[in-house]
Parts: sequence; structure tokens; C-alpha cells
Amino acid sequence: MTNLLDQPISTLKGVGQSTTDKLHEIGIDTIRDVIFTFPYRHEDFRLKNIVETPHNERITVEGRIESEPSLLFMGNKKSRLQIHLLIGAHLIKVVFFNQAYLKSKLVVGDTLTVTGKWDRGRQIINASTYTLGVRQDANDYEPVYSIKGVIPQKNYRKLIRQALEVASSSISEILPQNILQDYQLMHIQEALEEIHFPTSTAALEQARRRFIYEELFLFQLKIHALKKIRQQMEPGVSISYDLEKVKAFIASLPYELTTAQKRVVNEISKDLKTPHRMNRLLQGDVGSGKTVVAAITMYAAITAGYQTALMAPTEILAEQHAETLHEWFKNTDITMALLTGSTKQKVRRVLLEQLKNGEIDLLIGTHALIQQGVDFKRLGFVITDEQHRFGVEQRRVLKDKGENPDVLFMTATPIPRTLAITAFGEMDVSTIDELPTGRKQIETHWLKKETFTKTMVRVGKELEKGRQAYVICPLIEESEKLDLQNAVDVYNQLTQLYHGKFTVGLMHGRLSSDEKEQVMRDFSEGKIAVLVSTTVVEVGVNVPNATSMVIYDAERFGLSQLHQLRGRVGRGSEQSYCILLADPKTEEGKERMMVMCETNDGFKLAEKDLELRGPGDFFGKKQSGLPEFQVADLIHDYRALQNAMKDAEQIVQSDALWESEEYQALRDFLHQSGALEGDRLD
Ligand code: ADP
Ligand code: MG
Repeated sequence: MTNLLDQPISTLKGVGQSTTDKLHEIGIDTIRDVIFTFPYRHEDFRLKNIVETPHNERITVEGRIESEPSLLFMGNKKSRLQIHLLIGAHLIKVVFFNQAYLKSKLVVGDTLTVTGKWDRGRQIINASTYTLGVRQDANDYEPVYSIKGVIPQKNYRKLIRQALEVASSSISEILPQNILQDYQLMHIQEALEEIHFPTSTAALEQARRRFIYEELFLFQLKIHALKKIRQQMEPGVSISYDLEKVKAFIASLPYELTTAQKRVVNEISKDLKTPHRMNRLLQGDVGSGKTVVAAITMYAAITAGYQTALMAPTEILAEQHAETLHEWFKNTDITMALLTGSTKQKVRRVLLEQLKNGEIDLLIGTHALIQQGVDFKRLGFVITDEQHRFGVEQRRVLKDKGENPDVLFMTATPIPRTLAITAFGEMDVSTIDELPTGRKQIETHWLKKETFTKTMVRVGKELEKGRQAYVICPLIEESEKLDLQNAVDVYNQLTQLYHGKFTVGLMHGRLSSDEKEQVMRDFSEGKIAVLVSTTVVEVGVNVPNATSMVIYDAERFGLSQLHQLRGRVGRGSEQSYCILLADPKTEEGKERMMVMCETNDGFKLAEKDLELRGPGDFFGKKQSGLPEFQVADLIHDYRALQNAMKDAEQIVQSDALWESEEYQALRDFLHQSGALEGDRLD
């Protein structure tokens, strides 16, 4: 016998072909669909006190009819019916539109319960729902569904009632007993009744709480089951590094690691050692020192005889990494190489050969590095820097190449914790949540665009001290020309303003990579004092002598990007400044500017960004990877999410999930969701 829940809605009374077709349009086909599509709000029909109800709010009152209905026809089938109602000591007017048939029903002296809009403290207009006499089995709350008007709410409600009556008893509890008990969650059947037809506000709240937890828990359960199965299916390498050597290397570094750096180095090293594949995200604010963590852990992998690769999003960044690492590794016996699009053919051929032979321990390059027919002898560990796309594609490429290295993704775009554990639940996350000591806060100011010249004169004072500055112009997507023009205009203005006193450089996406590199080199060597640039400099570039960051049209940028840009300064010991030149038109835009001035903390900004833009927009639609929840809200239900994650993890790790009778419902769920077959989530 098929489950009652899976029966088509046509098995319900009064549901004909036309209703079936209409509901099909909005994805409601079975009794299960009807029952598990929750109302998005409830109309509140509780009796209200007229004295306390604000103007224009919906109100339900009960009173005695005091006057004969007066009916006025206004032509075109329109009518206006009015009575007086006595509520306690208050006499109010009640106005019905286009319900002339009520005239004979409303009798002086009778009791009437009526709902409508409360108008200026004296009348109810557009009265709609009414009950003659004292309400007996009245519903205080009426569910409202998002059924796009395909059938009237009233009819749809009847359908729900019927569906609940018919099928309620065949709905079994999916949540384990101990969880229901621990959190005092409402049982499924009661919760379903209450979420549709609540008997009180408190009961509705409890029903919602139950489903919020259930949604988050099942989601986490799926993620963790998938992760476990993947680990079993994809054995990785176990990298037994030489602890003494690694310690010696850390001691040779020019500074002591921060506590947070030490912690993440430990987390990553532990992962390297275990035989399953590392799939880890390292997040740390701009300037928190991720590069050195990368260096240490790569070094560890190399001491175990593996090759490693470090991928950066741009050539400039790859080169900078190469320089930095070269310096750190100068007293070790590591052989490293840089491979980018600009590497000469001859050199490239030799490099590839050495890579294949295993003569190169560490390869640095752009993201294309793992794709350009590059073969390693024994690739054990891959790090990708400033990774916003979280390497779904790269993971696939690596897998297709038959390599199964540990993978670490580094990002300076902190992901709010809520999102990190949902969107990237299958990844482990390490977080560097402190900056090296001695860093000065970057002073941030928001000024009007018209102050541009004044601002740049002020920046000139900093330049006189031998410092450098960035001026960023936004990339205007619709028009590359305009984008360029913007930067060129600013460049010309500044050349005039500083007439020869300070060198101004120009950088934009249209320059060839050689040209870009040259400009960047000149800037980092101090030959250029002010660099006017589009957002090409956004990621990772390190010029500690640059202390001023002026962002033109700052309102065009999102918080995360502004924070990234700001992170280009404040890298040395001098006081740095970030000037936002912006005339935001929206409240949200103003708020962004204010938040930037208030905090330097990337995680706080990320949370704020999430709040302002919502989870869907946070990553950009395509890569959001976020599940759609019916009742749960990632931002507000964070506590429940944390609990759900902890519980799911525990259950997945226990043998009981796979064996015990108690967890049959969860196993069924996992089977149905495809998690047990190791389907990809990404
Ligand atoms: P990001 O995390 O943004 O990639 P970097 O790795 O570029 O940051 O580090 C920023 C700067 O901080 C670099 O100049 C780096 O050498 C320095 N740094 C990193 N760790 C420490 C530390 N523990 N103490 C002092 N300076 C550090
Ligand atoms: Mg970096």
C-alpha cells in the first residue's frame, strides 16, 4: 500500500481536475505537499481592545448592534452598508462595502463579531469577516498561504483541514526521541496541526521552533552523512611530516606566530596526517598572516616527501608569494618554482620536466596551474589563496587528474559563521581571528565626493613623509570604457594637482599583464607615489609603505569589497587612512559607509553584509550553495543551527544511526535525499 501522504490531492473530497491543475502549477500535487507547505503568516482574529489599537491596523471586535443598517447603493454594483456597534462603553461605526445582503441579517440588539481596518479611533472600515452571535468555535488565527491566488485561501484552508484529518495519523515522527526531549520539541502531529491552525500564539511559536530545528537538523544530517561517506570513498594521503624540521623552520621565521596562527597550523597539520582527504577552508581577515601558515604547512608536507602547490588568483600575487616564500625558505633545501602565463616557453618546459621528476618541491602559480597539462610526481597538498569560489571546479580537475591531494582554501573574505557551517558544511573551517600585534587601526572617514581635491591635498601631506597612496575607482560593469575613463580622469586630475611633486601611476584591467606587473613593481619599489587603479589591486597585494587608501564612488562597492580594498593599507607600522568618497542615495548605502567607519573587523563586517544583503546575495546567486528553508532563517536561528549541527554530527558518527531501529526514519530520509549514494552537494 502506498503511503497515504503520497496520494494525489484528487483523492480529497471536492478536489476536481481544475483544482488539481491549478495547485499543480504551484507545486502541490500530493497530500504530503499540502500538509508540509506551511502558511507564511497567520491572520490574527483575537479580540482587540479598540483603545489600544493603532490607526490602520486590522482589528477584530465583538459588540452589540445598536442601529438599523443603513445601506447606500453607489452604482456599478457598489454599495456601502453601515451600522453602529456598542463595545463596552464605546460606540463605533462599522462599514461594509459591497455586502448589501447583510442588511437583513444585522438585527439591532444582536451580538456581532467583526474584523476590519481600524480607522482613526472611531470606525472599522472595509469590514470583512463577521460572525453573528457570540463566537463559539472561532479560530483566533487563520493561516494565509502563498498560493498565488490560484484558488481562494478559504477553499485551500478546507483542503488542509481535510488532508490533516485524513493523513495525520499516518505521519510518523522523524526526529529521535532524545532530541525531542532534550529541546522539548513538539511532536510532529501536534506541530503540524499547530503550524496550520494554531490554538494560541505560544503553540504556534512552539510548532515553528520544532520545524526550524527539524529543517536545520535534517540538512546538517545530510551534510555530515555525505562527508562521512566521501571520506570512506575517497581515501587521501597520510602525510607524516618531520616535526623537528617544521619546528626549526617556524623558529627561523622573522616573527613569532600569533596564537591564532599556531592554532590553525595545528589544525591543518593534524589534517595532513590523517589518511582522509583534507577539504579545509582557512579564513582570516586581511593581514592576519595566512601566507606564513601556508608556508609552514607546505613545508611540513615537503618534509614528508610530497610536492605542494600554491595557487594565487593573479600573477602579481603569485610573484609576491614567490618572493616572500623564497626569503623564508632560503635556509632550507626546498626547491621552488614559479609558473605563470608569462613564464617563457623554454623555462616552462624545463620546469614541467622537473615537476614530473619530482625535483621541484613547491610550485607557485595562478589558478591555471593545475590545469595546463602540469603533471606532478607526488602531489600531496594544494593551497589556493584568496579563493572565493571555494574550488568546486578545482577539486573536480584535481580528481579527474587522478590526484587526491589534501586541499586548503584560503580566503580573506570572512564568511559569517552562520553561512560557513551551512554553505560549507562539508568543509572544515579554520579561522585566524586575531591580527599580529602592533598593528594600528586604519582610520576610516566618509566624505562627500566634492571633497576629492581637498582630500588629495591632505593625502599629499602623507606623501611628503615618504608614504604612498592608492586611489581606487570602481569598475563599472556595464561599460568598460566608462570604467577606464573614470580612472584616467582621476589620473589626469592628480597629475595636475601634484604637478611633478609626486609620481602618479595608472593601473587598470586593460593593461597587459606585463604592463600591470611593471606598474605594480614600480609602486612596490616606491617609484610611484600614488597609484590610481581600478579594483585590480583588490586581492592580496602587499606594499607596506602605502598608508592611504582613497576609494572613489565608494557606495558602489559592497562591504566585503570595501574591506578588502582597505586591507591594502595598514600593512606597515605607520598609521594608515582609508577615505571613502561617496554620496550614497539609499539608506543601505549610507549604512555601509557608516559601518566601515565604525569597525575594522572583517568578521563583523561580514555579518553586517549578510544582514544588509541577505544570504542569497552574500556570495552572489550562483555560488551561494545555500539551501532553501521553509521556516528556518540562517541569521536568526543561529543557535538552533549550532545545536542541529552538533546533534547531526554526533548521530552520523555513531553506529546507531546505521543500525538502530530508532533511526530508521532518518535512514529513510538519507536514502531519499541521495546522501547515502555519495551524491555531490556542490
Ligand atoms: P593575509 O592573511 O592578508 O594574506 P599576509 O600573510 O600577507 O596576510 O600577512 C600580512 C603581513 O603580516 C605580512 O607582512 C606578514 O609577513 C606579516 N605577519 C604575518 N604573521 C605575522 C606575525 N605573527 N607577526 C608579525 N607579522 C606577521
Ligand atoms: Mg594573503
